[in-house]
Amino acid sequence: MATAPKNPPKKYTKNAPGEWSVTDRCIACIKCTLIVPTVFGLDHENGGYAYILRQPIDSEENDDCREAQRQCPLQAINYRKADKA
Ligand code: SF4
Repeated sequence: MATAPKNPPKKYTKNAPGEWSVTDRCIACIKCTLIVPTVFGLDHENGGYAYILRQPIDSEENDDCREAQRQCPLQAINYRKADKA
């Protein structure tokens, strides 16, 4: 029996534009905001969710974002390498 496809996760519009983003899978566990508070912010409206305040500015912050991505319990943190111009 066929099952209906799940809706793909949507990126929050509040994310700063760039390679990193948070999707609506987020349950606001705050883990990413503790690991990289300069990059991940928490919006307390609409049930609460994390979003990208600003993109990482150096390799150290990028590494920390990868760690946050690894620890996110809902795989709500996306990374998409920017297209080269
Ligand atoms: S770690 Fe994942 S689920 Fe937790 S606040 Fe960050 S994006 Fe949301």
